[in-house]
Amino acid sequence: MSDNVKEISREKSAALYAKAQTFFPGGVNSPVRAFKSVYGTPLFIKKGDGAYLWDADDNQFIDFCGSWGPLILGHNHPAVREKVMEVMQNGMSFGAPTALENELAELILGNNPFIEKIRFTSSGTEAVMSAIRLARGYTKRDKILKFEGCYHGHTDSLLVKAGSGLVTFGETSSAGVPKSFADETIVIALNDKEALAQAFEDFKDQIATVIIEPVPANNGLLLQHKEFLQYLREICTANGTLLIFDEVISGFRVSFTGAAGLYQIQPDIITYGKIIGGGLPVGAYGASAQIMSNVSPEGPVYQAGTLSGNPVAMAAGIAQISELLKPGFYEDLSAKTEAFVNDITTFVNERNYPVNLTRIGSIFWFAFDTKETIRKAEDIDPQSMSKFKQMHFELLNRGVYFGPSGYEVGFVSAAHTTDLLNQAKQAIFDSLEVIFG
Ligand SMILES: *Cc1c(COP(=O)(O)O)cnc(C)c1O
Repeated sequence: MSDNVKEISREKSAALYAKAQTFFPGGVNSPVRAFKSVYGTPLFIKKGDGAYLWDADDNQFIDFCGSWGPLILGHNHPAVREKVMEVMQNGMSFGAPTALENELAELILGNNPFIEKIRFTSSGTEAVMSAIRLARGYTKRDKILKFEGCYHGHTDSLLVKAGSGLVTFGETSSAGVPKSFADETIVIALNDKEALAQAFEDFKDQIATVIIEPVPANNGLLLQHKEFLQYLREICTANGTLLIFDEVISGFRVSFTGAAGLYQIQPDIITYGKIIGGGLPVGAYGASAQIMSNVSPEGPVYQAGTLSGNPVAMAAGIAQISELLKPGFYEDLSAKTEAFVNDITTFVNERNYPVNLTRIGSIFWFAFDTKETIRKAEDIDPQSMSKFKQMHFELLNRGVYFGPSGYEVGFVSAAHTTDLLNQAKQAIFDSLEVIFG
């Protein structure tokens, strides 16, 4: 750290964290929040507004975490806040249908040619779990195939990583997942057509579904070639296997219609989460009317939820999705992010720093110790994360908040003005100079 930059105070956060550790395992309610991969005590946040966050010690940050993706309009957007407050006047949950569910569904289905019917859940994990069950029920097959480096929430059968060998059964990546579950999950590398073809040969007529993040953004930003995704579409069709695009992070982010729209590829089932709830807990899965007719009570695939379609959460979704439908929304957001990322790329290239940035729409990622575009998980060097760790520390001290792990992507929101992005850029330049200069 250079002489004129002071380390931020974490006194109040540290006290809150100490107390939290008496309540929660690791002091948190979701693991990455514990700052295990970066320096210092986790910051306890007390307020967010626009592109800014404030922590318990009153440090102010330009935020690029955006609650891990949902806040595409920034924090505390007036349209979302006002709609939620209006709806809350009438009570918070009824366990009965409301017009708000129709309203959100109409906004989505009326502007998305890739799905005809939708079902709301309360999280991305739940949406994915339900989509997998639907695919299995529909195909009457048990096996599923996933890709190493794609995250699909914490459903048992998806907490599975690649074993050794080219085409393998997965190994559980969490204690508590029965081996017999992992045995139903095949795990292969991204961006590898041969491995995919081999898996379909080895498990002929057994694979119910292939699930992929079409824009893998939970383990770095591992952009796939459109051609690979097209091949995946074709091989699934040829084998009677349903293709699930897990668009919990890319949906409403890389375009209104997500990666399906961006790449113009029709999956069989799409899952959503994050942005769809405007910052409240909402997930969803959608498909053709024919596939969705298999879901209970119309069909035999059971799925339910006490708070599914909750009116307050629907209200937040309606307000946020309505903003996204305004003309030029994605073009503006993308252009701002592109300029921001290009300037940083120019900076690191001129100085020959071993940093490579990738971007799609308003998502970006810093890879260290490489100049290559990384497309599969195994090509990320774990050692390179020490550089991210340093950058994270330097950035916090300069008023910029990134998610506390080098495997996480950054998000630009509509609230990030060009002016704020220029400020953040300068902080990034100064931090990189401390690390590499
Ligand atoms: C965040 C995420 C999930 C899990 O969603 P939760 O709401 O955290 O349960 C699943 N899939 C993808 C692609 C995600 O980014």
